[in-house]
Amino acid sequence: MWTSTKVDAYFGGLLAPEDEVLTEVVRAATEAGLPADHLSPTQAMLLQVLARAVGARRILEIGTLAGYSAIWMARVLPEGGRLITLEHEPRHARLAEANLARAGLSEVVEVRTGPAEQGLARLTEEGAGPFDLVFIDADKSANAAYLTAVLPLARAGTIIVVDNVVHGGLVADPASTDPDVLGTRAMFDLVAADPRLRSTALQTIGDKGYDGLSITVVDHL
Ligand code: MG
Repeated sequence: MWTSTKVDAYFGGLLAPEDEVLTEVVRAATEAGLPADHLSPTQAMLLQVLARAVGARRILEIGTLAGYSAIWMARVLPEGGRLITLEHEPRHARLAEANLARAGLSEVVEVRTGPAEQGLARLTEEGAGPFDLVFIDADKSANAAYLTAVLPLARAGTIIVVDNVVHGGLVADPASTDPDVLGTRAMFDLVAADPRLRSTALQTIGDKGYDGLSITVVDHL
């Protein structure tokens, strides 16, 4: 086992232990043949920490998968808080709904199935914002489009986390033609050029291998 995996297991076991529900969610996702793309417990705890830090009452997620990260975030919502999560794949959305029911969060989390761009446009039409925390973890080639569509749903102080921004290091390769890399680079170009956004990106290593995430706060709108 890699040292970083052992250290992640140590941190996770102490600071972010999975309960039976989360263990069952992971098992159900594996059994259903879903990719093991969910967050590690220490990464999921980062979302909880951020949600509490901003006093999140409304959370938006793009990319539900089996509902693992939604469960972590929804667990720190206050009474009356709400999380909306967008999932392209109907099969994943159904599994997520079953997992959220297992976690007792069906009334708190709404899973919306369909293309995220449409889902985001609909949320804007509905005046569903502002969201206090946004977690983007879906089609990486669309990362720039997601960020653009999320900003009308944000407020000053909204935190936007984007997962998997390292692409095995290719994010730093200007010659890459990988659509996912291009999508993430386009997102960073937008962030860097937008004076309303204050942002950083951190490389991570551990249970999920080498990757990274970006954390942005909307400074003002
Ligand atoms: Mg991810």
